[in-house]
Amino acid sequence: MYLLEAGTRRVLVDSGAFQGAPDLEARNRDVPPMDLKSVSHLFLTHAHQDHCGRIPFLVKNGFSGAIVCTAPAAELAQLMLEDTAKIQQEEAERDARHQKDEGGPPPAEPLFSPADVAKTAQLFSKPVVYGETVDLGDLSVTYRDAGHILGAAFLEMKVSENGAAKRIIFSGDQGNLSKPAIPDPELPSATPADYLLIESTYGDRDHKPMSETIEEFKSVLTSTLPKGNVIIPAFALERAQELLYLMRGMYENHELPPCAVYLDSPLAIDATEVYMRHSEFFNEEAQKVVARSGNPFRFPAVEFIHDVEGSKKLNGIERGAVIIAGSGMCNGGRILHHLRHHLPHSQNAVLIIGYQGEGTLGRRLVNGDKIVHIRGQSVAVNAAVHTVNGFSAHADRSELLRWSSALKPRPHTFLVHGEEGPMTSLAAGLNANGFSTEMPNYQQTIEL
Ligand code: ZN
Repeated sequence: MYLLEAGTRRVLVDSGAFQGAPDLEARNRDVPPMDLKSVSHLFLTHAHQDHCGRIPFLVKNGFSGAIVCTAPAAELAQLMLEDTAKIQQEEAERDARHQKDEGGPPPAEPLFSPADVAKTAQLFSKPVVYGETVDLGDLSVTYRDAGHILGAAFLEMKVSENGAAKRIIFSGDQGNLSKPAIPDPELPSATPADYLLIESTYGDRDHKPMSETIEEFKSVLTSTLPKGNVIIPAFALERAQELLYLMRGMYENHELPPCAVYLDSPLAIDATEVYMRHSEFFNEEAQKVVARSGNPFRFPAVEFIHDVEGSKKLNGIERGAVIIAGSGMCNGGRILHHLRHHLPHSQNAVLIIGYQGEGTLGRRLVNGDKIVHIRGQSVAVNAAVHTVNGFSAHADRSELLRWSSALKPRPHTFLVHGEEGPMTSLAAGLNANGFSTEMPNYQQTIEL
């Protein structure tokens, strides 16, 4: 989250939830040291939790300004926030029961409630499109396509104070190249900028090319499905849609082995519906598919599973099923019962296609643990575990350097949104390209 102050104007850019280690997540409860009532706008880049996950907490603490973003970002953010509020409430109720029965620690108060999410929903203003400038007089913000997930933007901001104007670019999250359905990132405009804030998630490494990644994916399906099932833990937003898009393409090209594909996640199904409502944000290839066959995420072999009963019924299938379910890191949700059922049998495969955080079940599978614990039960891992790494929605190091190189002259650059290693490595790359760089600390104030 960034607070920008100029004269009496106060605006925020993003307000994401910290994710990962407990001391980092504890920051989610820090009430920001500012008068939230005086903030007029929150400019949201996109709907990932680490960019929008704390907005209802701000609303609970007095923020009532306008939330500005693209239409798909608004709809996806509301879906994600409603889901988070529901999960937090369920966790608190479960902890309260434990405390009553076993005298455990008092339950943590949810960060925000479904009512706070409903209040947040009222604050979204008329959606913007790429290329559009929101002009507040002393401050203007132009939304550009970041090519990251549907509706994701980077922001070009012009701020005026005492007759002097400064231009600042917020990279948001930059997208990977050649992604299914989503366009490649747009380059920044030719107007010189004074400052750049650039994300650095993969600032120290390059991804495998998408074409190689797709070949790896195909080979796991081809080798497993004739004898067993393929279980794919997937994030509900973006990765699930990407997989469906790829498999639809394979199906049309007769490259998909005979199988039934199940999307077993109500949240992913809802997110897919948002994608379909906003096909104007797709890349050219996906728009052609829409014109030709309607829906690029549906094909005869795919079934969407809404209810828990339908999910449990999938346990009766012995071979030929691809089951996509959440959570993406296997730390909750329907994926757990699929793993418990499939891991003991060597004819099955688990396909890991996303980042698996330290301490999660997904990470233990990647690390090759032969026994794992699922809901208190120990489960033998005899299924093959394949990790396919190239599906990132984020730009890699080369792409971040290519994208920033469009900026002439070089703006002073703040590295943000990354761990220390990748950030330091990207800083070295930017410095070699003629940028002056700096790495701000949490809650640091900088005079521009
Ligand atoms: Zn993101």
